[in-house]
Amino acid sequence: MNLDAAEVTPIMFAGVGGARLLYGAHWMRLLPSDFRVKTLDGICDDWPIEYDELAPYYDRVGAFIGVAGMDGDPAYPAFEYNMPPHPLGRGGLRMAKALNTLDWHWWVGANAIPTARHKAMEKCVRWGVCETGCPAGAKASFDLAYWPHAMAAGAKIITGARASEITLDARGRADGVVWIDRKGATHKQRAGVVILAANGIGTPRLMLMSQSGKHPNGLGNTSGLVGKNLMLHPNNEVLGLYDEPLESWKGPAGQPIYSLEFYETELSRGFYRGSKMNLMPVPSILRFLADFDDLPFDQRWGRSVHDLAKYAGSVLSWAGNIEDLPEEHNRVTLDSSLTDSSGLPAPKIEYKISANTKKSLDFSLARMVDMHKAAGADHVFSHNLWKEAPGHLLGTARMGHDPERSVVNAFGRSHDVKNLFIVDGSVMVTSGAMNPTATITALSLRASEHILATARDMDAAA
Ligand SMILES: Cc1cc2nc3c(=O)[nH]c(=O)nc-3n(C[C@H](O)[C@H](O)[C@H](O)COP(=O)(O)OP(=O)(O)OC[C@H]3O[C@@H](n4cnc5c(N)ncnc54)[C@H](O)[C@@H]3O)c2cc1C
Ligand code: SF4
Repeated sequence: MNLDAAEVTPIMFAGVGGARLLYGAHWMRLLPSDFRVKTLDGICDDWPIEYDELAPYYDRVGAFIGVAGMDGDPAYPAFEYNMPPHPLGRGGLRMAKALNTLDWHWWVGANAIPTARHKAMEKCVRWGVCETGCPAGAKASFDLAYWPHAMAAGAKIITGARASEITLDARGRADGVVWIDRKGATHKQRAGVVILAANGIGTPRLMLMSQSGKHPNGLGNTSGLVGKNLMLHPNNEVLGLYDEPLESWKGPAGQPIYSLEFYETELSRGFYRGSKMNLMPVPSILRFLADFDDLPFDQRWGRSVHDLAKYAGSVLSWAGNIEDLPEEHNRVTLDSSLTDSSGLPAPKIEYKISANTKKSLDFSLARMVDMHKAAGADHVFSHNLWKEAPGHLLGTARMGHDPERSVVNAFGRSHDVKNLFIVDGSVMVTSGAMNPTATITALSLRASEHILATARDMDAAA
């Protein structure tokens, strides 16, 4: 990837299960307002669907993979979780009390990490290393949550395959995918329907690589929007060091509690939309030092580290997930010289943090400091931007009714190539401030059912 023009570095993971092998498994639905930003705030675009249309799919995906959480969050319309939540732990409890004193919203974290054995997944034993892959097999990464079921139903997985082009037949319908194996040999997988799920960078890259005489700007790119409107959810963080053991090595690594107090637009703050904030336990002082690698050298070794050592197990982190608005200049294109090991053009990322996002970053940082102070932290350390983005890769093939302003329709179907579908974060019109995988998966289920329902008409629909 060429990141020379990227103010934030996107993280991806190539492998069976994708970036979910590394994800924290915070499992958050969008709020109803996220689908109606144009209507509510007069900016961006509304989604072509509303929360109520997606809610049944959120429910069914949650039941399938086993999401642990507590019913009744007043920020949401009512719905039910499938498993009881993970314990708040000492840290979560201390912080929840602090948020009560501030009278700010908080709720028990929702995680795609089963609190009891569930299908192919084991019960979480709280080791806390979820973001390097769960050694207990207790996290709903999709190598466990979906692939075994798909393979039992007849799906075949080909590993080490790099897709290089989606091909078309004489009538302009997608007829398959060309892919390159580890030895460099080229193959063609024929298909009646092609479904892209290569994430918000891989999907536009493959569409742009599939340029042809009929699609000179890339496949399905009549709108010119393929690769544009990249949204990355910049993250910030405030760490607090506390005066009592908080068992902050215990997992899950993500969100004993979260707060949506500053999620919605409040124009008196000086910016649109807002952030989701989640509490995370921080196991060790070394992790703390790794996060704060910009501290002066003398604070990162020797005596200073020994002084901090007493806080091992007593560190809590608030992290802000900031809503990023769609802007066409934030985009994925094909690099003119850099290639991958198969000789295919690497994606080039151009991404600037907007003035709106900067203000939201500053605002949420100050509120996370407030929360640590209300909880009585001895020391507070702030980080206004994680240079590495959390792997939320969104918006680069947006959905919509209008083919001139969107790439796919409300079911992820390409406006230009009727048997080509997209089922990843590319299709999101606005980003919300929630971790996106619950939404990506619910949209995928909805699109899959539509594909099944219209499979017989795929030719007629083209
Ligand atoms: C550290 C980290 C923590 C995260 N934590 C959370 C969290 O707590 N909650 C949450 O909701 N989300 C989280 N995310 C985001 C989450 O991982 C993504 O939303 C999710 O993985 C997106 O799924 P996807 O299938 O669309 O894309 P991916 O998981 O990126 O999968 C795409 C797959 O396509 C493959 N691919 C791409 N191009 C090609 C090609 N040309 N040929 C063949 N294969 C190709 C890739 O190798 C990859 O395997 C996190 C991400 C990271 C990195
Ligand atoms: S806390 Fe431990 S067992 Fe639970 S998901 Fe994380 S790594 Fe797996």
